[in-house]
Amino acid sequence: MRYISTRGQAEPLGFSAAVAAGLAPDGGLFVPATLPDLSGRLDAWRGLGYEELAFEFLRLFADDIPGDELRAIVRGAYATFDHPQRAPLVKLAPHLWVLELFHGPTLAFKDFALQLLGRLYERQVRLSGKPITVLGATSGDTGSAAIHGLLGKPGVRIFILYPRGRVAPLQERQMACTGAANVFPIAIPGSFDDAQKIVKDLFGDRAFVAQVGLSAINSINLARILAQSVYYLWARLQLDAAGAGEVEFVVPTGNFGNVLSGWLLTRMGVPGLKFCVATNRNDILHRFFTTGRYEAGMVEPSLAPSMDIQVASNFERYLYFLEGQDRARVRTAMAGIAAGRGYAVAKPVLGPVRSVRLDDGGIKQVIARVHREHGYVADPHTACGFAAPAAGVPQVILSTASPAKFPETVTETIGVAATHPTLDALQSLPIVRHDIDGSVAAIRDFVLKHAR
Ligand SMILES: *Cc1c(COP(=O)(O)O)cnc(C)c1O
Repeated sequence: MRYISTRGQAEPLGFSAAVAAGLAPDGGLFVPATLPDLSGRLDAWRGLGYEELAFEFLRLFADDIPGDELRAIVRGAYATFDHPQRAPLVKLAPHLWVLELFHGPTLAFKDFALQLLGRLYERQVRLSGKPITVLGATSGDTGSAAIHGLLGKPGVRIFILYPRGRVAPLQERQMACTGAANVFPIAIPGSFDDAQKIVKDLFGDRAFVAQVGLSAINSINLARILAQSVYYLWARLQLDAAGAGEVEFVVPTGNFGNVLSGWLLTRMGVPGLKFCVATNRNDILHRFFTTGRYEAGMVEPSLAPSMDIQVASNFERYLYFLEGQDRARVRTAMAGIAAGRGYAVAKPVLGPVRSVRLDDGGIKQVIARVHREHGYVADPHTACGFAAPAAGVPQVILSTASPAKFPETVTETIGVAATHPTLDALQSLPIVRHDIDGSVAAIRDFVLKHAR
């Protein structure tokens, strides 16, 4: 399988090289040159356990990794989850399910991708003999999931920048209480955007990138998208067994990564899938799906902080399909967005996608309603999904985080203390973080000093 850039001006690469590269050198995102047709395989896949299904799916894409190695990587990745089904599908009402994606080590759905990606990086280091330095910025969940995907991996060190005092206390503890020698959580003054800017500047410094073997772990990585497709497939096969016809997956969305993973299956011949994109008050995607115009606004903090984004970095992959896989048109569209002119299409919806938006007041109301009606405790991100109006077909709400990660909002709203033993255990561990001023030079020096 070859992977091409959405912008069409980079060499096609094999799976491992595209995963190692992250972003394509022309600034585009890697997509499979052709998508496999899964329709003839689904019957054979019914009844497989999660890891087996993941292996069967991923081997179609990661065809440059020997099968037994890939199987071991997949098994290792999901052995870290504390639920035997990995992604349990919980039925709340006759036409309503929750797909719980928070049973991984950091209690958010990003573990599905980052536990796998960490092991792919480990393999790459072993094969090349060259160490990797991972650098990223986080507003919370990505950083902790990335750290837990990479901690203790030989030849890999990970530096995560975050805005001091602006990530949830438990999220900070998940990053700063690992005790792992290859993990460097760095608190800087300012906002998430400031942290992101430093990371971008450092990736622009070619000498530095080469010197430390710098690698990104953000949601544009191809392996992250494919790893997430598996749980949609897993849920769809179980819904078939339960006799459910067409269903709508409702996906709490920020960077459009998660929902894209599911939507890609519609291009691979998997039937019966519809999607609803759920946003918080940062509603660029909701505006796009209702008006056809994609225009960045200002990011405002919300009760669902992992969805506080202004530009949905994975949107480019969807746009590539919207533009009929014409990569010159993708370049023009992305240049327009970068120049602040936005992007508009006559027909914003390609396939069955709609959207919903929920502000902070709504998030609390929905948490209360879901608790009252179903006795179910939803986290603030998942609550955005529960806001989707009935679709005329059964709905599956993706639960992207455990309510225990956001105890303030949950407890304040329904009076139920949301806890989890993993998080409780963190309270007694020492925090090891690095307070550094927010200059590019200071961060560069710090990384150089510790990446030897
Ligand atoms: C990252 C995250 C999201 C948004 O996912 P995208 O792939 O960026 O759309 C939603 N909920 C939680 C809890 C997250 O951590």
